[in-house]
Amino acid sequence: MADVSAVASAKADVLVRGGTVVDPRGCYEADVAIDDGRIAEIAPDLAAGRRDEIDARGLLVLPGVIDVHVHFNEPGRTAWEGAASGSAALAAGGGTLFFDMPLNSTPCTVNGDAVDRKRAALEASSITDFGLWGGLVPGSVGEMAEMAARGVVGFKAFMCDSGLPEYPRADEATLENGMREAAALGLPVAVHAESDAIVRRLAQECSGPTAREFLASRPVRAETEAIDLAVRLAGRTGAKLHIVHVSSGAGVAVAAEGRARGADVSIETCPHYLFFTGEDLERLGVVAKCAPPLRPAEDQGQLWSALLDGAVDMVASDHSPSEPSLKIEGDFRRSWGGIAGVQSTLAVLFDRDRHRVSPERIVALVSATPARRFQIERKGTVAVGNDGDLVLVDPMAAHTLDAGRLHQRHKMSPYIGSEFRGTVRRTIRRGETIFLDGRIVAAATRGRYVRPHH
Ligand SMILES: [Zn+2]
Repeated sequence: MADVSAVASAKADVLVRGGTVVDPRGCYEADVAIDDGRIAEIAPDLAAGRRDEIDARGLLVLPGVIDVHVHFNEPGRTAWEGAASGSAALAAGGGTLFFDMPLNSTPCTVNGDAVDRKRAALEASSITDFGLWGGLVPGSVGEMAEMAARGVVGFKAFMCDSGLPEYPRADEATLENGMREAAALGLPVAVHAESDAIVRRLAQECSGPTAREFLASRPVRAETEAIDLAVRLAGRTGAKLHIVHVSSGAGVAVAAEGRARGADVSIETCPHYLFFTGEDLERLGVVAKCAPPLRPAEDQGQLWSALLDGAVDMVASDHSPSEPSLKIEGDFRRSWGGIAGVQSTLAVLFDRDRHRVSPERIVALVSATPARRFQIERKGTVAVGNDGDLVLVDPMAAHTLDAGRLHQRHKMSPYIGSEFRGTVRRTIRRGETIFLDGRIVAAATRGRYVRPHH
């Protein structure tokens, strides 16, 4: 018997000892053994003898964060970010898998060839695993089957101007045809939901450079109107609809009503809508410009309520950096719209004293539900047979996010200077530690391309 167990132990690579494993259904004390990149055993007091034993006493052991919404801009716009720096920042925030949006890379990911090019670029540079969104733009409906065959997780459409001329908005016919095609392919359509008509009109009326004028140009009703249309189209076509970066409680409510009527809708929000308000925007400046914009405190309160009561399905960063020169201080009208916060999602969710989110709920929001919704096998929970993607969090350790802690390419983030309680100690991707106590330590292997199973 001793010989048999010795053989079994020799094959196990990593033992995470003495932590509190967090599952959407509850927390429990256990050791976690990872064998050849997969979770092999979860139980108290597992036998010693693994090659690498990690002391997790006092730490929470979560499944790695799955960030379903980032813009790492590779290939083509790596001066803005790039997958090496972007995935490093993700890992520093506890992430092990991201889905890259079809813009702002060059070319945009709107056909099979562009999917191949992005996949090759990210396989060469990402330290975390990754999946790819395909693009739904006028003219790309006929390319969707080819993109699906290459493994995209779904298709992203803009209902208003995207800010990039090469990625035009999907008019209603494109959106409806794209949803029909996506439904046939078994994949979701993700929408940036702001009404083009409202945003276009108000951009003319509120054309000044100030934060106040920018906020007035993109009101909550632009969001609710677009969500209402998207949900009706999803109901009509049978498509799975994923609404990205919902910024307001009212937006969540409209989407949830559609879901109650039978539409297949998932709702994503972002940490910045939970952490900052429109009232903060003047103080923060253009680094915090994003679309939809930050909302008044009252809307933020409703968004937190929706998050806590279960109406919000997931939280993703919408990490969308640019070159610093595109953020023009004092000029909200001409500055790039996008917040670079990929490293801060867990910190925001762990830290809000006014809105205690349980660790179980956090895991559902950033790991379990994303994996289930996007049909990613062997990810999203700490379970035997799943990939050994773990993040070890010290829930009591405080830290201040200074620029030196950021791993993204440009050290620009509205979170700089914020104090958080809850600190990521270690990120493990398929058994390999890629982030440890402030440093990226990935060496042995690269990230892998992940595709949905449907
Ligand atoms: Zn985005």
